[in-house]
Amino acid sequence: MLDEDRKVCLKRRYQRVLTEISQLASGFGRETRLLAVSKYAPDEDICYLAGLGQVEFAESRPQALRDRAVRYPDLHWHMIGPLQINKAKYVGRFASCWHSVEDANTARAVAKQVSHRRLPVLLQVNISGQGHQHGVLPNGLPSLYEEVKEIPELEITGLMGMAPRNEGARASFRKLRCLRDGLSDGSLGELSMGMSHDFHAAIEEGATIVRLGAAIFGPR
Ligand SMILES: *Cc1c(COP(=O)(O)O)cnc(C)c1O
Repeated sequence: MLDEDRKVCLKRRYQRVLTEISQLASGFGRETRLLAVSKYAPDEDICYLAGLGQVEFAESRPQALRDRAVRYPDLHWHMIGPLQINKAKYVGRFASCWHSVEDANTARAVAKQVSHRRLPVLLQVNISGQGHQHGVLPNGLPSLYEEVKEIPELEITGLMGMAPRNEGARASFRKLRCLRDGLSDGSLGELSMGMSHDFHAAIEEGATIVRLGAAIFGPR
């Protein structure tokens, strides 16, 4: 059980970020969805947030995603972390959306596990300018897009990116938006960008989904 103080804190943080997101986004005439990143949160917190109306949650590890999707089938479980090809089944079977597509082979392996539906996916782009970050480099994006587009079980809905930790977040977010706009005929709607420390800038640059962990569940 959650003790009462913890519940009060969780509710306060959750409602504060919801208000901030909707105020900022509506100032630009847009809507931005909140994805609750529950990778460090206990089950009790998830139940509590679900009771407050939160439906979309995200996990960064495939087995954790599977476990929670089985435990809470009425909630939507987004995969946001790096994926090894031997874990493809967890995502193909249990994710309601996969944000971290970075190579076509893994995408095809996930697609083989998808049945009776199309899985919405976002291509993760390394917009940080740092080589060790996950995601396809911007110059590899067009060919990844063309390859993944050919996979019938997957539906590309947009792009995902992470800004560098210390500086230049806004410029990175802008870059992701420009990449999206340049990639297609405007059919790619989603921009999944912005975490607890930089989601304001992300919304200002056009995020349609922000992925927040600490801002909701508290510092680790
Ligand atoms: C953990 C994680 C987040 C959330 O990070 P916070 O700083 O806790 O908001 C967002 N996106 C990805 C890909 C993550 O792994």
